[in-house]
Amino acid sequence: MFFRDIKGHIKVKESLVRMPAENRVSHAYMFVGPEGSGKFPLALAFAQYLNCEAPVNGDSCGECASCKKYSKLVHPDLHFVFPVVKTGEGASNPVSDSFIREWRDFVLQRKYFNLTQWYNFIGAEKKQGMIYTQESQEIIKKLNLKTYEGRYKVMIIWLPEKMHPTASNKLLKILEEPPAGTVFILIPDNPEEVISTILSRTQQIRIPPFSTEELKEVIQEEYELNDEDAWGYARLANGNIVSARDIVEGSEDLDFFFENFVFLMRKAYMRSLQELVDWGDQMSRLTRDKQKSFFEYCLRLIRENYISNLKEDELVYLTPKERGFSEKFAPFINDNNAFQMAEEFSSAHSHISQNGNSRIIFMDLILKIIILIKNR
Ligand SMILES: [Zn+2]
Repeated sequence: MFFRDIKGHIKVKESLVRMPAENRVSHAYMFVGPEGSGKFPLALAFAQYLNCEAPVNGDSCGECASCKKYSKLVHPDLHFVFPVVKTGEGASNPVSDSFIREWRDFVLQRKYFNLTQWYNFIGAEKKQGMIYTQESQEIIKKLNLKTYEGRYKVMIIWLPEKMHPTASNKLLKILEEPPAGTVFILIPDNPEEVISTILSRTQQIRIPPFSTEELKEVIQEEYELNDEDAWGYARLANGNIVSARDIVEGSEDLDFFFENFVFLMRKAYMRSLQELVDWGDQMSRLTRDKQKSFFEYCLRLIRENYISNLKEDELVYLTPKERGFSEKFAPFINDNNAFQMAEEFSSAHSHISQNGNSRIIFMDLILKIIILIKNR
């Protein structure tokens, strides 16, 4: 991974590059920033840079023996720790290395990713993974290996908040007496869930979210999008590059949700009960995941329409199409009904999650919306 392959983050890159130059490489870093802000590729680029034999212009060379191994993630002094799941027979005590081949493929295929995508990649959508206790033995074992060829032994811990407390405590002990020549890079999505004693043992590097402009450029490089659509999607993604891709790739869903939201609101306003009953019937045949996504979508539109009444335009994240609809619709969502309406969509969401009867949940929701939309 090269610094130049990662969009934006100019100041972060400059400060990382200065560290070895000024002999200030710390033994433990924590890259702190929201999901989808590019923390992982930055950490990888930094690790590669630290070990590059001939860095040029603030980036690694890509030509030396170290860079070549880094490019395949097979450098013997590069170690990864990440959440894993228990899979079938004989794998009751998984550690990161049990999944190292999958991990390399996964990371090499994409620059930016999140935990759901990783679990999907290893076919563990329905499982709860973690960094299990026995991982700490692995860490100690790897630290005791002598540094083969690199200047630094680098251990990248992705999502340390997923560590079993026993493993966290062992890691803390290691960080209290850091082995020479080792650089830990911890990459949490939720640093407040990492035990504070570990937090205080690391040097924190703040990674800000991507700007809307940067996201727009990234998605326009990857997908054929006109400026207006790209702007709309980039704003929706809220600085998260993983969401930006999801939104573009799920834009068919987005259209579907939009049309159904508009239908529900219009027909509720007109009290077209029979049409709504038929609609509820159809919607209840979607998969539960899709029904939940629909309710999440509705919640977002309610929130954005409510906020747009406050005329704080910058806060509103809507696609051009949604914006067009909102010009007339927003006044219908106000102090009299916005909170209750949001409440109805989120309780429908939780009832679906608890396996409630979809038809009844939709019917109930329809009746509530009819009443609430009239309460303007
Ligand atoms: Zn190099």
